[in-house]
Order: sequence, then C-alpha cells, then structure tokens
Amino acid sequence: MTAPEHPASVMAYIGLGSNLANPRAQVRRAMDELAALPGCTLCLRSSLYATPPLGPVAQPEFVNAVVSLATTLTPLELLAALQGLEREHGRVRDGTRWGPRTLDLDLLIFDELQLQLPGLIVPHPELAKRSFVLVPLAEIAPVRLLIPGHGRLQDLLAALPDRDAPRRLPETAAAAAAVPGPQAPA
Ligand code: ADP
Ligand code: MG
Repeated sequence: MTAPEHPASVMAYIGLGSNLANPRAQVRRAMDELAALPGCTLCLRSSLYATPPLGPVAQPEFVNAVVSLATTLTPLELLAALQGLEREHGRVRDGTRWGPRTLDLDLLIFDELQLQLPGLIVPHPELAKRSFVLVPLAEIAPVRLLIPGHGRLQDLLAALPDRDAPRRLPETAAAAAAVPGPQAPA
C-alpha cells in the first residue's frame, strides 16, 4: 500500500489580536495571509471585536477575532508560520507580556490534541478565561465544541464573568483599507 499523496487535514482555531498601527486592517490582512499559508485552508472568520486591554500596561483598545483553519501542518509548523506572520507585521517581542502589539496570533485549538512543549501549549492555556477569545470563537464554532482539557465551549462561555466585554465591530467600507506603511499615522 502506498502512502497517501496528501496528508489528512485537521481543524485548528487561531486567535488574532492587534492594538497598534490600524488594528482592524492588521487583523483583516492577517486573515488573508492565514488563508494563503501553504497547507492551510481558511474555513470561517469571526467578526472583529473591540476589547479593553488586559494587564498592567496602559495601552489602546484591542481588536480581536478568531478564524478556523483546515491544515496539514504539524502544530509546531503552524506556530512557526504564525510567528513568521507576526514578524512580517512588524511585531517586536521585547519580553513585555500583555504589551501593545501590531499582531498577536495564538494557536488556540489544534484538533483534539493536548500538547505541553516548552514553546507551545495546546489548547492555548489562557483560552478558557478570555472573553475576547471565546466570544468570537462561538461565532464560528459549534457551541458543543469540546475543547480538550477544558470542556464544552458553551459551558466555558456561560462561566465567563465578562461575556459582554468584547464589542462586535460593524463591517465598514474602511475594512478593506490597506495597512498603513511605517510612516503613516497609526
Ligand atoms: P501572549 O499571546 O500570551 O500575549 P506572546 O504572543 O508574547 O504572549 O507569546 C509568548 C510565547 O507563548 C511565545 O513565544 C510562544 O512560544 C508561546 N506559546 C505557547 N503556547 C502557545 C500557543 N498555543 N499559541 C501561541 N503561542 C504560544
Ligand atoms: Mg501570542
């Protein structure tokens, strides 16, 4: 028997976030770039949501969204691809957690997998408490989705204290606007 020519694809969910340099355009462009990744097919994209920033650093509001991606990549290959896109969006990692960023791409869920590697934890360890992840996720995933190690999406949503915090942003004509270059105002 010969090996299949194309490896089977699995479903992954990716969280997107930005709060610098035209966040809406950063997130929309990143969705298109995810769709163009080798070995990946973008299935569904959530609306964009505005979310107050987390943590101790004073910074602008975030724009967040979630997409589903059918992929033949391994989890580590997919993480490397996400980090490559973050770099292309000019993200600088200076070690500040929760600091402002042009683009944050988190691997939220990878099929039924649970992984604990030094640089990759799947499902994403903060997923269950983050309304800016669960609310957009619920827009594109079945509410009965079983998140490995965490339980059903609908139960996680029901347990959120701040379920109403993410504000769904209306679609606008400006949504198609290009990301400004480095000289343009944020
Ligand atoms: P956060 O998204 O929590 O604000 P960062 O984007 O700066 O933090 O990521 C910090 C580190 O988290 C990365 O270097 C990456 O290796 C690690 N990491 C662990 N699990 C994941 C995951 N599921 N998705 C994305 N990054 C992850
Ligand atoms: Mg991240």
